[in-house]
Amino acid sequence: EAKSAGRNQICLITDKMIEKTETEFILLEELRKALRDESFKVHFQPKLDLVTKEVIGAEALLRWWHPTMGQITPNQFIPLAEKSGLIKELGFWVLEQSIKECVYWHKRGYKDLVIAVNLSPIQFNSPDFTKSVLQLLGRHGLSESHLELEITENVLIEQNDVQRANINMLAAAGIKLAIDDFGKGYSNLAYIKKLNIDSIKIDFEFVKGMASNDDDLAIVTAIIDIAKRLGIKSVAEGVESEDISSLLKELGCNSAQGFLWSHALESSAFNAFLDEKE
Ligand code: C2E
Ligand code: MG
Ligand code: MG
Ligand code: MG
Repeated sequence: EAKSAGRNQICLITDKMIEKTETEFILLEELRKALRDESFKVHFQPKLDLVTKEVIGAEALLRWWHPTMGQITPNQFIPLAEKSGLIKELGFWVLEQSIKECVYWHKRGYKDLVIAVNLSPIQFNSPDFTKSVLQLLGRHGLSESHLELEITENVLIEQNDVQRANINMLAAAGIKLAIDDFGKGYSNLAYIKKLNIDSIKIDFEFVKGMASNDDDLAIVTAIIDIAKRLGIKSVAEGVESEDISSLLKELGCNSAQGFLWSHALESSAFNAFLDEKE
């Protein structure tokens, strides 16, 4: 394609693009190194029941501190890991760390906690993905119902046969499924009905705006209502104020996470958070 376009094509590649490609290339090398050196960390953000205010589980969020570049956010490195295929290995590592951590909470007496892990579509594009997840659970002794997998709604619309089969098998095995960033994409409601979804997570942009913006409030209200009618749970992400928390509770939203209660915490801090809450 580039060949047929001819030499003139080269003029379209600007210095900025080269710079970006170089940065990506360097970052990708660093990503490989970090995976080898295990310099990634999984942090855990508490999820609370909006009525009882009890911790019901946590979302695993990947963290990366680079020795010289400092903290690099998931929004910066996840797309790169996806593009390079590295996400399979990285995602599996996150899954194993998360499962181990959840087993630890259970051992400490917090037996009902559920761990939620974000999934990239590329991860469940392999026919044996579900099998490998079930093996991981078996190896560490965590029951299927204590694992929740978060997938973004666009995935449900763009999925291929392998991905669809995996989603069905995961649900059939008793693993919980959540739709992440709900409201941000196509929001195809037919898929929620067709697939065995346990919860929908209301995107934090709407949650943030709901106390001051009527449209955001309308959207959040509608999403909670749909969830209720379909018999699935609604989860609000990005709750930063007491006002929004009580508004969500009034609307019948089931659970939430956000800076009001806590950022994502490393294991020891998360466990301290649990103990303080008791
Ligand atoms: P997400 O799954 O929607 O995760 C929620 C994001 O909102 C997290 O950002 C979290 O730190 C942030 N957040 C939580 N509470 C609040 C709040 O009250 N206010 C604000 N402003 N933000 C809040 P984070 O950790 O930077 O992650 C960004 C995205 O990166 C995640 O969005 C997820 O899509 C992706 N990601 C993170 N870890 C993983 C992973 O292990 N695997 C995959 N595939 N994706 C991941
Ligand atoms: Mg998520
Ligand atoms: Mg989300
Ligand atoms: Mg989000």
